[in-house]
Amino acid sequence: MTKYTNNHLSYSRLSRYEQCPLSFKLHYIDKQQAEPGLPLRFGKAIHSVLENLVQEHMLDEQNGPLSEDRALELWRSEWASQGLVGVEVFQEGIEILKRFVRDEGVLDSHDVLALEKEIRLKVGPFTVLGYIDRVNRVDDETIEIVDYKSNRMLFARDEVDNSLQLSIYELAVRQLWPWAKKVKLTFHMLRHGIRQETSRTTEQLDAAIQYVETVGRMTEEATEYPARLNSNCVWCDHQQGCPAYADALRGKRDFICQDLDDLDRVAREREEVAQLAKILYARKRELEGVLKSQLKERDELVVGGVRYAMHNVAKTTHPLDQTIELLGQATGQSWQRLLVEIAVVDNKKLEALLKKLGKTHDRSTVSLLKAELSTVAEKKHSPRFWAKRVVTA
Ligand code: SF4
Repeated sequence: MTKYTNNHLSYSRLSRYEQCPLSFKLHYIDKQQAEPGLPLRFGKAIHSVLENLVQEHMLDEQNGPLSEDRALELWRSEWASQGLVGVEVFQEGIEILKRFVRDEGVLDSHDVLALEKEIRLKVGPFTVLGYIDRVNRVDDETIEIVDYKSNRMLFARDEVDNSLQLSIYELAVRQLWPWAKKVKLTFHMLRHGIRQETSRTTEQLDAAIQYVETVGRMTEEATEYPARLNSNCVWCDHQQGCPAYADALRGKRDFICQDLDDLDRVAREREEVAQLAKILYARKRELEGVLKSQLKERDELVVGGVRYAMHNVAKTTHPLDQTIELLGQATGQSWQRLLVEIAVVDNKKLEALLKKLGKTHDRSTVSLLKAELSTVAEKKHSPRFWAKRVVTA
């Protein structure tokens, strides 16, 4: 078996190589590791508060709500130790923590199996190391793996269903708690108060092991580390010294497909354009952020021959009762008929209501209700274009 210099892998190491070999080289081989920025320190501080809060609850063997006061006390202390600044960021942290405490509801500490659980998963010649934020016991045969995320954006469904990080965690958890017949995988999106859940089949887990070993070998055997523009370029610590990023900001293109019947070339140009568009949109947002901050102080701004201003966009909603009442009076149609014709239930509000019911009603009653609602729901499918890079060894 080949001996590698580095036989320890982590999800971060694998995903950095997968996304951009140059960034991998600069970070892990040349050790150019920048000081963590504000978003990373904010995420660390929140993670630490949640870990300590639940840990204390477990140490006291509590069965009840988490303490909001204690969460805020821990936040003040983490805020200082992470060197965070800005009242808006401070307030955002408070809101995340209050919602977390509220959403946890009554927490039986015996249902939390582990916090910040260290994992060591053997994969071929490698050991994959990592820490799982939280492992819950759902029932006598089910475990839930929870990874807290402080991302501003929710993941797309396919990102959750194909997350390598969650697959690695499940493989490790199955070894640590072999009694678990089922494993639920959850990204707890703290900024949104939403849990994005998924699961894995045996085939998916087998594929994940093979994939980890393949990418692990690539990280060790690589002799060249090309820059690969990707959606994370906008947050990359190596942007400043990266020629590919500088070219992207100038809109430089490498490849234009002349023959639209040649699908390989069509796909190649499509990927290049998609990456450039993401980088340029992110840059546009950054530049707009600067201009918008000026518009907090004034009504308009005229610079570089352009006039900038903020304006309100109206969104109209119609209250059900009064709307049907007025329509009924005007048309003579029945309440029932008008309801069928124009009313739909807001899915987000329905989900929020079901979530609330989950805290006050029996779990099986709510599950049954969800199943019944799903049988009467109308689903509309529309085609959506989907693309994901395939790594070849
Ligand atoms: S900016 Fe993008 S392409 Fe450049 S090193 Fe970072 S991730 Fe790679």
